[in-house]
Amino acid sequence: PEAVRGEPLPSRDDLSGLSPALPAGGEKAGRERLSRWLRSGLAAYEDRHDDLGGDGTSRLSPHLHFGTLSPVELVRRAREHGGAGAEAFVRQLCWRDFHHQVLAARPDASVRDYRTRDDHWRGPDEAAGDVAAWREGRTGYPLVDAAMRQLRHEGWMHNRARLLVASFLTKTLYVDWRTGARHFLDLLVDGDVVNNQLNWQWAAGTGTDTRPHRVLNPVVQGKRYDPDGTYVRRWVPELRDVEARFVHEPWRLPEERRAGLAYPHPVVDLAEGLARFKHARGRD
Ligand SMILES: Cc1cc2nc3c(=O)[nH]c(=O)nc-3n(C[C@H](O)[C@H](O)[C@H](O)COP(=O)(O)OP(=O)(O)OC[C@H]3O[C@@H](n4cnc5c(N)ncnc54)[C@H](O)[C@@H]3O)c2cc1C
Repeated sequence: PEAVRGEPLPSRDDLSGLSPALPAGGEKAGRERLSRWLRSGLAAYEDRHDDLGGDGTSRLSPHLHFGTLSPVELVRRAREHGGAGAEAFVRQLCWRDFHHQVLAARPDASVRDYRTRDDHWRGPDEAAGDVAAWREGRTGYPLVDAAMRQLRHEGWMHNRARLLVASFLTKTLYVDWRTGARHFLDLLVDGDVVNNQLNWQWAAGTGTDTRPHRVLNPVVQGKRYDPDGTYVRRWVPELRDVEARFVHEPWRLPEERRAGLAYPHPVVDLAEGLARFKHARGRD
């Protein structure tokens, strides 16, 4: 429009506070990343996409968000490669479109429950300490803390980790999904209202998930998707020297070693969190 004046784009160097870990933007960087991914990541995607320790996903979400790559091009080029990895990747891209369709039909779902469960979330005063610990990655649950620190440092988080920290906030800590969604939108480099809000609702059980009361256990998830603790040790240096069998449950270490770790005690007992959630949802 004629009335809109153009402004020069600031260069990366002009912006303060940017993490050096943020990926490069633009079409050229997007295409390079895509070509690299098709060459070296796609074939193993079906087997490795949930593996937290490795780098088993494309990390193309920021480019899809900003439009520097198109989903149609991704589908076409993945299918040219073919194989089970390509089909698994295309299925994941479909989630993106699915959420766009849901929000187009129900725009209010960006701020209100898609399917209400009549939750009475804990209020900001009651939950303030827990929310701060969650945001800062010091809940005392290593996988949750690793993921929240990765988000702060890289502006990105693995999908499996997003599911876990969202379940932890909304179910184990019983805090409103909008509190978590806002924090994600503040920090995610791929953050967009559609995929963020609807995935948060999925995890909170107020969205399209067919198992709305499922609660993810951070210890079980850690042992399954980060069995040797590589991911936790990368982001939680306090646990760098802890053996794999304790790395997801440092509270099981002998007391004198635990006390020397400078790592917090769990903010909540998992069984108590689960009981509170079940009671709130009328399922006890
Ligand atoms: C609580 C929560 C919040 C999320 N917020 C966002 C967000 O703000 N923006 C965003 O793009 N994605 C969001 N996601 C979805 C997903 O986590 C990311 O798209 C994915 O982790 C991006 O990494 P990738 O590009 O390596 O994914 P890949 O595994 O390589 O998948 C390829 C592409 O498929 C799409 N995709 C994959 N999984 C999903 C999904 N569950 N929903 C929608 N699209 C998906 C993405 O565009 C992704 O880039 C969220 C998920 C959760 C559980």
